[in-house]
Amino acid sequence: MGDPLNAFITACDLPPLKEGRLSGLRIAVKDNISTAGVPTTCGSRILQGYVPPYDAFVVELLRAEGARIVGKTNMDEFGMGNTTENSGFGPTLNPIDPRRVSGGSSGGSGAAVAAGMADLALGSDTGGSIRCPAAFCGIAGHKPTYGRVSRFGLVAYANSLEQIGPLARSVQEIATLLQVLCRHDPRDSTCRNRPFDLVPTGEIRGVKIGIPEEFFGFGVDPRVAAVVYRAIERLEELGAEVIACSMPSMKYALAAYYTTCMSEASSNLARFDGVRYGLPVDHRPSWHEAFREVRKRGFGSEVKRRVMLGTFALSAGYYGRYYAKAQIARDLVREDFAQLFREVDLIAGPTMPTIAFRLGEKSDPLSSYLADILTVPANLAGIPAISIPCGEVEGMPVGLQLMGRHFQDELVVDAAYAYEQARGCER
Ligand code: GLN
Repeated sequence: MGDPLNAFITACDLPPLKEGRLSGLRIAVKDNISTAGVPTTCGSRILQGYVPPYDAFVVELLRAEGARIVGKTNMDEFGMGNTTENSGFGPTLNPIDPRRVSGGSSGGSGAAVAAGMADLALGSDTGGSIRCPAAFCGIAGHKPTYGRVSRFGLVAYANSLEQIGPLARSVQEIATLLQVLCRHDPRDSTCRNRPFDLVPTGEIRGVKIGIPEEFFGFGVDPRVAAVVYRAIERLEELGAEVIACSMPSMKYALAAYYTTCMSEASSNLARFDGVRYGLPVDHRPSWHEAFREVRKRGFGSEVKRRVMLGTFALSAGYYGRYYAKAQIARDLVREDFAQLFREVDLIAGPTMPTIAFRLGEKSDPLSSYLADILTVPANLAGIPAISIPCGEVEGMPVGLQLMGRHFQDELVVDAAYAYEQARGCER
């Protein structure tokens, strides 16, 4: 099979283990999710040639339900980015306009599903990495509540923020995958026993939806905002009650997110020393030299930047000023959501502030980080969030984001289904 979009790092064919709810479906798996006997690189040269000896729990679940795993998808190195341009194996192109990025970091998963190279895909979302490619490629993507899906076998980037979740062309398929994925796993101590229990009805009469004004500020393209406002009006026509509200902590969310994820990454990535995984170490005089050499060759520049900044934020003397401060800001975000969810059942806004960037457009790190402003709040709070297509700007898809209370993934998905059904009827 050709792969002109560079959606896959490794093609494979892991057959189903039995018949089940996913029989006959081809599933693409992000390359930071372990697959026994199939290389798992996390988009990094440092892991080139690494072959995990076991399947991630989610991969076991898919195969036990009849799915066939057809490949490992391209991604920003270790999940760090929103374009896949930080992959050690070249960027994934957007199936709708190959001059644009597919989003990230699960860009290969987004492109593979949007282009029909897979029926469904798994991604991981630390600060938007499922929702961003879903929005940019015009498909659906859901970040589950923190603790709803096992992270056993997911290569850690920032443990306190990330979840594995589904990407699909329809909300119904998102629901089917969540039914399979939400299973208790004692091998991930944060994984709760909360099966996903929903047959989507598309009934949202009386559901209260909050619209925080901040989700339409922060550099949101007015054309994207207009498309999303129209989608929200559509939800109102379906019987939802739309309520204007505010989320003052949004101004701290990005700083809290980046300080936290870089700190966790600096610690998690310390294990890549060339001794146990991937790139082999040179026989050099000292361990320090070998460690430095392997990481210099194996890591890309964004990973190096984050490891250095994260190490700095955690270091003695600076910890209180950076890491600890970020946790205080994170609490403010959580409190804002808790407050809002006393009044409303869901929160809606755009997924990304713009349509898919042109290749090379986000060459400075800061402008790339800024584009995550609307997705990171859900990760900081651990709440569920979905992105579904809701219209177009310049022929490129726009994503509507819906967020809900902890463990109310069902309501989030059902509301998305209501919107999708109504939109489908219109076209
Ligand atoms: N773009 C964000 C980051 O680089 C989110 C990535 C993700 O969710 N893995 O950290």
